[in-house]
Amino acid sequence: MTQKFDVVVIGAGPGGYVAAIKAAQLGLSTACIEKYTDKEGKLALGGTCLNVGCIPSKALLDSSWKFHEAQDGFAIHGIQHAGVTMDVPAMVGRKANIVKGLTSGVATLFKANGVTSIQGHGKLLAGKRVEVTKPDGSVEVIEAENVILAPGSRPIDIPPAPVDQNVIVDSTGALEFQAVPKRLGVIGAGVIGLELGSVWSRLGAQVTVLEALDTFLMAADTAVSKEALKTLTKQGLDIKLGARVTGSKVDGEEVVVTYTDANGEQTITFDKLIVAVGRRPVTTDLLATDCGVTLDERGFVHVDDHCATTVPGVYAIGDVVRGMMLAHKASEEGIMVVERIKGHKAQMNYDLIPSVIYTHPEIAWVGKTEQALKAEGVEVNVGTFPFAASGRAMAANDTGGFVKVIADAKTDRVLGVHVIGPSAAELVQQGAIGMEFGTSAEDLGMMVFSHPTLSEALHEAALAVNGGAIHIANRKKR
Ligand code: FAD
Ligand code: AMP
Repeated sequence: MTQKFDVVVIGAGPGGYVAAIKAAQLGLSTACIEKYTDKEGKLALGGTCLNVGCIPSKALLDSSWKFHEAQDGFAIHGIQHAGVTMDVPAMVGRKANIVKGLTSGVATLFKANGVTSIQGHGKLLAGKRVEVTKPDGSVEVIEAENVILAPGSRPIDIPPAPVDQNVIVDSTGALEFQAVPKRLGVIGAGVIGLELGSVWSRLGAQVTVLEALDTFLMAADTAVSKEALKTLTKQGLDIKLGARVTGSKVDGEEVVVTYTDANGEQTITFDKLIVAVGRRPVTTDLLATDCGVTLDERGFVHVDDHCATTVPGVYAIGDVVRGMMLAHKASEEGIMVVERIKGHKAQMNYDLIPSVIYTHPEIAWVGKTEQALKAEGVEVNVGTFPFAASGRAMAANDTGGFVKVIADAKTDRVLGVHVIGPSAAELVQQGAIGMEFGTSAEDLGMMVFSHPTLSEALHEAALAVNGGAIHIANRKKR
């Protein structure tokens, strides 16, 4: 007999697994189809984020930062030690254990919530039927009242640098190095390139980042991207802007890369090369030709503001649809869709999705940049507070960067919070909460912040918007 569910989800990444759990919590019979297996050949839920994305990259970033601190950051505290070494396989093994814990945690959550987990490749057929091809090759068709497509994304390949997962790797391969490469090349100065470049640079690799664009971190506020370029360069990342990779030749255990910049064609040799030029939606064998769901011109599943596709009862969420490729965006879309399936009036505020780059210092922002607002003709007041003036940052010997709060000059409503510095991601989240409730800079300034905290920098930046900062000379006078 054909199985039938209220909701069938294809893909168990942060979009799909969260949607499945929420659907089950709301009383809908739910199945989630996932095909990804780990190195032991076992089904691993959690998608890119848990297996080869957010979590493993943060595990290596944290380990490598601790190593860097032990090497260069302890002496100032008076801590003397005879020298530190890094056991790379142990670091990578720790990462693998964290991944295992979290992915099996999703399986436990599925059981606890009553989600039926189905291993296999899911394909949407006409009439909201889903074909599942199991690992043994057998095929089953299940029926659904509602289908949520959450197949995610995969790294973009570029012809000049074909990935072999040995010398030329993508982000997944770069999480698996068993030794520190002496000369590491990274193509692309985006979030993933900078994070992975930072990991291996901290462990001693000589890192060169080749970025085709002339502008560094184009999406960030200019003040932040300038500070980031200065700091990351000081840390040893050689970031070459306006450098477009045009070819590569693997020769044994090294690769000669050709790129063009303002001075013409250049070559450079690396021991490993990470290709981090972005990600593209996964739609391979996902949609039967007669299923009715359409793709847009860039290959993303076409959806409206509420993630509904062109077929009633079929939705798509996460990296496979327009917008930022972020785990928290995928998850919230999953929640919104399920709430709407239940008939609730849920919607998502796409204007307040925070962005984070987990370098050190961290870089994070929410809302609009000063440049974007000015281009729109919005008059703004800006308040900035440097961590160099924060007692908490001084105590931690982590004083790089600043908090920048941007408010509408007429209404004082906060329109953007941009941070480069310690715990930037956490500070920006405070800004996001305030902005969701329509906070003004004055409101934030009137709140009581614990002392001493890094959060006080947000407080002071909000005060500085109207010339009222206490612990810094105000650029703007009241
Ligand atoms: P995915 O996580 O890609 O999951 C999709 C799942 O669907 C996969 O498991 C896939 O196997 C499965 N699937 C696909 N097709 C089928 C099919 N036909 N049948 C069955 N199963 C299928 N985002 C952040 O927010 N913060 C970060 O710090 C961050 N760091 C990152 C670091 C790296 C190195 C990378 C690569 C990404 C990072 N991201 C980060 C991005 C984040 O991982 C993605 O935005 C997020 O995973 C997208 O979620 P998703 O559910 O849409 O898709
Ligand atoms: P993101 O999309 O944020 O992950 O960033 C990827 C970056 O890779 C972008 O800034 C692109 O400009 C850059 N990029 C893409 N192709 C090339 C190339 N051939 N050489 C150098 N940089 C590239």
